[in-house]
Amino acid sequence: MLAFTDTRKIALSMLFSMSVKETASMALHRGVVPCSRTRVSLPHRLGEAYSESHPMNRIYLDNNATTAVEPEVLDAMLPYFSGEFGNASSIHAFGQKARSAVETAREQVAALIGARAQEIVFTSGGTEADNHAIFGIVRAPAETSAARPHVIATSIEHEAVLNACQAMEKEGVDVTYVAVDRAGRVDPQSIRVALRAETVLITVMHANNELGTIQPMEEIGRIASQADVYFHTDAVQAAGKIPIDVNAFNVDLLSLSGHKLYAPKGIGALYIRGGTRLRQLLFGGHHQRGARPGTENVAGIVGMGKAAQIAKESLAKDAKQVAALRDTLEQGSLQRVPGSRANAAGAARTPNTTNITYPGIEGEALVIALDLKGLACSTGAACSSGAVEPSHVLTAIGLPPDQARASLRFSLGRHTTPAEIEAALQIIPAAVAQLRDLSPTYRREAGAEANR
Ligand code: PLP
Repeated sequence: MLAFTDTRKIALSMLFSMSVKETASMALHRGVVPCSRTRVSLPHRLGEAYSESHPMNRIYLDNNATTAVEPEVLDAMLPYFSGEFGNASSIHAFGQKARSAVETAREQVAALIGARAQEIVFTSGGTEADNHAIFGIVRAPAETSAARPHVIATSIEHEAVLNACQAMEKEGVDVTYVAVDRAGRVDPQSIRVALRAETVLITVMHANNELGTIQPMEEIGRIASQADVYFHTDAVQAAGKIPIDVNAFNVDLLSLSGHKLYAPKGIGALYIRGGTRLRQLLFGGHHQRGARPGTENVAGIVGMGKAAQIAKESLAKDAKQVAALRDTLEQGSLQRVPGSRANAAGAARTPNTTNITYPGIEGEALVIALDLKGLACSTGAACSSGAVEPSHVLTAIGLPPDQARASLRFSLGRHTTPAEIEAALQIIPAAVAQLRDLSPTYRREAGAEANR
């Protein structure tokens, strides 16, 4: 475990020619969530000055974290904040306009994944959809009668699934976390082997948020249906990037999130195959046939519907264009940064994602350094108890903690341009070289390598 230490504070202050005191005071302006009391944050003021002095505007390569709302999506939503403000449950004209908009959106979301409109339940996002699917199955009356229900998940699921599984374990549910290979792939055979008589649910994400690795949905679906076990997939990072067909996958439950799809944050959906008996997560009114009580977020739902419609129409074109740019970024970065390695590059991946290890640097320091140069990307590291924990996904594919901490995720979007990728390929090697120059360990190791 590595705290964001004074050494890193000093390194950053040297890198950006600021005093250590100045560096520390920046936290006040920037608002990066501190990992520990000693953690440094850099000022918005400085970041802006840096990017403004750069011959381009900011470059956003963090689309797996969230996407910008598509202008057409915003246009579709706006009337539902003002003139069309009705409650979709009301029987008067205001309400009926809202109801009609919600039902159109349900059809649009269903069309993106090959489902029927009545199988879509809108939620507050991907996290709620995942929780609803998992708790809904495990706590369903038919399943809770099992002495000790059993769930199969993978070791690289998003926290929305992993933490739900861990909460269930505390309630007496057994969970098997199936391992993945070095590219983050699940072997369907290991799912078959993990099955027990008590297994009630298999939950395997469609595409991983950090690596982009795509799992063999059809094969896992076949295993689940042969075993007569419910199959849930978290498709939050797959939707809009790669085709989804709930029938080809044989999934019973599938989670979606609006804000990964150019719709706003705070809206998502859960596909529930007709006939699936799910215990509801929330209790309240009769909205969405009682499956998800709560007054519908009409504007958000309309936005998600529009975003799904655009994604369906432009998926093939977007995927081709984004994959070409991602490959240029990945290859260029590997060529220009000595010792760098792409993770999971051999696997089928979402077209927009690349994860690269830059030995000798701290991922967090590099993210900040790149941000100051106008480039936004991320690490998979998580803050925990005042320390930076390496990503559970990268350690699951076998990276030692120091390499996992030295890895960055770049996730492109529909609007990423070739010029931005070219600029990123200037910025990244320079920032890595600067940080490596400040690292005594890296300099020592590089010197030893050169003398060999
Ligand atoms: N699942 C995956 C794979 C994700 O990447 C995310 C968000 O990062 C979620 C679930 C959670 O979605 P939301 O932010 O809509 O709650």
